Amino acid sequence: MQELTINDHGFCFHCNADLNGDWVWDIGFKKYGTEEEADKFAASFGAIKGFGRFGREIYVKGYDESYNKLPPYFKCPDCGEKCYEQN
Ligand SMILES: [Zn+2]
Repeated sequence: MQELTINDHGFCFHCNADLNGDWVWDIGFKKYGTEEEADKFAASFGAIKGFGRFGREIYVKGYDESYNKLPPYFKCPDCGEKCYEQN
């Protein structure tokens, strides 16, 4: 997903919660313990050391009452409101 490569996830439109999560590379480093493996992990998300972080926003796919697919959107983890739509 493209979203993973971005550096700044911004703030929730409704409650102003900070939507930035952990750095992708840091997660890889914690998980695998070496810079080399962390680089590989980050690369698989289109990120590198110092660029690219996960967002805290929740990806939601839904259907309307006639079971038509609704456009996916992102939900705020704090207030549960729609924080922004996917482009
Ligand atoms: Zn919110």
